[in-house]
This record gives sequence, C-alpha cells and structure tokens, in this order.
Amino acid sequence: MMKVTIIGCCGAYPDANKATSGYLVETDNTKLLLDCGSGVLSLLQNYISIEELDAVILSHYHGDHTADVQSLQYAVEILSRTGNREKILNIFGINQQPYFNKLSYGEYCKAYQINNNSIVKVGDLSISFSGNVHSMPCLSMKITYKDKSFVYSGDTEWTDNLIELSRGCEFIICESNLYNNQLGKVPGHLTAGEAGKIAAQSGVKKLILTHLPHYGNHNQLINEAKAEFDGIVELASSGKIISI
Ligand SMILES: [Zn+2]
Ligand SMILES: [Zn+2]
Repeated sequence: MMKVTIIGCCGAYPDANKATSGYLVETDNTKLLLDCGSGVLSLLQNYISIEELDAVILSHYHGDHTADVQSLQYAVEILSRTGNREKILNIFGINQQPYFNKLSYGEYCKAYQINNNSIVKVGDLSISFSGNVHSMPCLSMKITYKDKSFVYSGDTEWTDNLIELSRGCEFIICESNLYNNQLGKVPGHLTAGEAGKIAAQSGVKKLILTHLPHYGNHNQLINEAKAEFDGIVELASSGKIISI
C-alpha cells in the first residue's frame, strides 16, 4: 500500500499552523517528500521523524515549494552528527542555477538532476515526470508503487502534458490556485474548472484540489471542478491521507 499525506496545501504563503506545498508518500520501506515549502518541516514531524526521510523531490524552485529545504538540511546535519541518522538525504531538482547547486549539503544531502525524461527510483517507488507551463521551469510528477499511480501537478497553467502523465492513474493532486472567473488573467496557474477538465480527460477516479488561494470560498472551487469532472472532487487539507 502507498499512503499519501498532505502536509501543506496553501498557495504562496502558509496560513497559521499550516504549510505551503508538501506531500509525504510512504510505503512499508520508503518515505518520500514531494516539495518542501514554508511550514512543511514542522508539520512533517507530526507524521514521521526526520530520521526516516529517504528523499525529497522538488517540482520547481519557487519559495512556496522550497522554503524549508535549508532547515531540512540543518536537521539532517544535526541528526547525523548526533548519531540519530545514518543515511544521506537525496534531493532531486531541476538543473537550474543557482538553486540546484544549493541542494547538495556537505556529506548530509546529495542533489540529483531531474527533467521530463527522468525515471527516478526511491526505495519502492518509481517516479516519472512531465514538463509544466509556469513562470520558471517546473515538473509534474507521477508516483508509482506496484501497479498503482498518482500524479502531483506542481505549479502549471494548462498543459496537455499533465493529462498524458495522469492517464490511468488513481488520482491527481492538482493545483487549483484560481477561480474560473480568473481564467486568462493570471498566468502560470490553473483554474478549478481547468483542473476538472484535466481530471476528466485523463480518466482518473479522483481529483484533489491543492495550492489553494487565500481568498474566496473554496467550496466554489469544488463546484467549478465538478462541473467538468464526474469523479470524486475533494479539497486538499493538512493531514488528509489518501491510500491506494
Ligand atoms: Zn510556482
Ligand atoms: Zn506554488
């Protein structure tokens, strides 16, 4: 079984006691973090010890997806120096400078490049990618365990790549930073209606809306996505668990 825990789902900045993008993926033998935004390192410890974390995959280098990476590096260093952690933390990111070179950290964290053709293995998990349309290079990622997969979108405006990557998956955690009435007005992000269309065209069973805006009524996002998609639509929330 693969268990996904939503650590944080706020767009841009974390609300009180919340976090921006961070998703923990666990199997019996593997613990992988997708994105590491502000507030993620603190909330992550409600679910696992930092000692256990095997790897981090970053969709892109905006602060709401990476702000806690440096704190995580310090944590790994201190845990290693005090004999509480033995393994290196592997951090996967796009080869974009100056960001990529900062992912490696002494003997504690090692950086690996990813692109839309990469296939990454982390323990029991296999991860593939597709290219997004965003204000900086960004990747969507498909996480597979045995014969089950899900997709996490990272940040993107409309791209058919995300539909292709999600085809045949159980569910998609898709950014929905915008309401439908913002369509075409804010580049780099999806409306809830577009997220619904992507879910419908890829044939997933469930759509989880994330990277949520700090304004408006989130139930409207659900309604706008449901107008395009017959499957299950839910809002992301800190602590929400999806098992497949
Ligand atoms: Zn971004
Ligand atoms: Zn973002």
